[in-house]
Amino acid sequence: MVDNVVEAVQAVRDGRAEVETVEVTDGVYFQSYFSGVTAFETGDGLVLVDTGLRALAPALAESLREHTDAPVDTVVYTHGHVDHAYGLEAFLVDGQEPPEVIAHEAMADRFRRYARTKGHNEAINARQFGATVDMADLMYEDGSPFGVPEHPPTTTYRDALSIDVGGLRFQVRHGRGETDDHSWVWCPDREVLCPGDFFIGVAPNAGNPQKVQRYPGEWVDALREMAAREPRHLCPGHGDAVVDDPAGIERRLRTTAEYLETVVDRTLAALNDESPPHADIVTGVEYPDADEPWLEAQYDEPEFIARSVIRRYGGWWTGRPCELKPAPRGDVAGEFADLAGGADALAERARELSEAGEHRRASHLADAALEAAPEDEAVQSAVGDVYQARATVQTSMMARNLYRSAAAYARSGRPYR
Ligand SMILES: [Zn+2]
Repeated sequence: MVDNVVEAVQAVRDGRAEVETVEVTDGVYFQSYFSGVTAFETGDGLVLVDTGLRALAPALAESLREHTDAPVDTVVYTHGHVDHAYGLEAFLVDGQEPPEVIAHEAMADRFRRYARTKGHNEAINARQFGATVDMADLMYEDGSPFGVPEHPPTTTYRDALSIDVGGLRFQVRHGRGETDDHSWVWCPDREVLCPGDFFIGVAPNAGNPQKVQRYPGEWVDALREMAAREPRHLCPGHGDAVVDDPAGIERRLRTTAEYLETVVDRTLAALNDESPPHADIVTGVEYPDADEPWLEAQYDEPEFIARSVIRRYGGWWTGRPCELKPAPRGDVAGEFADLAGGADALAERARELSEAGEHRRASHLADAALEAAPEDEAVQSAVGDVYQARATVQTSMMARNLYRSAAAYARSGRPYR
């Protein structure tokens, strides 16, 4: 998976992006650049499942157009994320009729929410993908994607929708998973499954720390429904297609379901044991082994999925009494710094712990040091080093980029704001 969207966008602008189209089976094309796009040739033109990120779609479309010049008849957006529902314009051929765009009915609410929380979404996505909030300027140079896409859905559905386009049948099914507006698409005539982001080739993105609620429990049910179709080909929301391997696809879907189910069940068991503070739950749960490549925590990670479960069934309070009605961060940090003999003493101890590999404890002291003395250059540099070191030991992109971001904020004397 492309690790850094900012770099990918730059590569498209410089004409360096290399996108390969795979003919998965007769007249079915898959291409992926950060996110995947599947195109089915039918008697009436193309059916597209997803359309990529707007800034990357021209590279995806160019690659597809080496294989087919058919107009786009119908599009399914698997969900309303910016890397799936905003790239359609690049795929249209000159003078063609506007295509029918199918999506789940909850997508309209998402677009309203994006418009209402545009600045917030720009900042958290810059941190997730580009590492510092200042990179938002580059990511959104051509305008912010947060709002209604250029080609909004023309047909929406609630539970399931069956369509026939130019002689090919498609079942569009709703399930809650990464989002509440998620669809997956099954084409029985080609035995192709497009799971959207229910499957992304690595551990599911079910716990994203900065995003709205995700649904790891319902995700399990959707994956099992997909496996029951016995797909021969898999064209995922991210990562590579799996071609002509029904047993391998079933294993991917079922082991991912089991992985999520294990995290959900163990987190609920911890919650049910007298509902302890959340930090106790996430550091105490035993997470399942990633013994298959598609369960590796490369993008998201199980500790964050446990957080998602806690939020799903609980409120915002962490269970620590001081965090119910906290003092301003700087005031708290000032008290700790006074007791420790100064912010530099906190920063020094944070550095020692970091060097000893005690990254979790180091971060608590580092935050207090920076919050107590944001202008102190020695503190900025020590805290920057602590988070840079923490970033390098992460397996997940999510944690790595957020810690890189923390290092950048520290070095500019901004306690993460
Ligand atoms: Zn996605």
